[in-house]
Amino acid sequence: MLRCYNVGVSVLNELMDDLKRLIRQVPDFPKPGILFYDITTLLKDRTGLKTVIDAFRDRYRDAQVDMVLGIEARGFIFAPAVAYALGVGFVPVRKPNKLPAATERVEYTLEYGTDALEVHKDAIEPGQKVLVVDDVLATGGTAAAVCQLVERLGGRVVGVGFVVELDFLHGRSKLAGYDVFSLIQYPQ
Ligand code: AMP
Repeated sequence: MLRCYNVGVSVLNELMDDLKRLIRQVPDFPKPGILFYDITTLLKDRTGLKTVIDAFRDRYRDAQVDMVLGIEARGFIFAPAVAYALGVGFVPVRKPNKLPAATERVEYTLEYGTDALEVHKDAIEPGQKVLVVDDVLATGGTAAAVCQLVERLGGRVVGVGFVVELDFLHGRSKLAGYDVFSLIQYPQ
């Protein structure tokens, strides 16, 4: 079980090391050659999820976020909890043909395939400040596509936050110009 933290910049490194121990690395999933960073082992820890959400709350509490947007599927685990902690609304970005009302769609490239994502056209009001949250920053294709969606609807991306960042895939380069944050980094 994790120790309890009052998260500040000074303890972030220590926090990262403790959280890292809770993440399971699964080779060859979902296909050969991919090392999968499994956050379910962090989620089941008594204080793992709380520590992550508290850290996000502390990072963004002064960012005047209007809306937290989560990416299907694993973004749905963290983003609504971050929205709750910040006291703002949550917007789901879903796989194609899941949302019932009029949608805006974007196509993107994954580390292991291609896909598309959709959001309701009326989910974000022009000028709203949006925080995008997902579990893992890999190549950055998904998050960059979602930022495009937000901007097409007139929203302003005030932050893009991840639990895990795979530094060696250089996902940040696709998110140049955005405020990108991750709690745990894997250099290689
Ligand atoms: P990307 O667009 O390459 O940044 O991929 C990001 C999305 O794919 C995230 O939503 C992750 O959930 C998932 N993902 C990509 N690579 C991995 C990985 N090696 N381990 C766990 N999840 C991953």
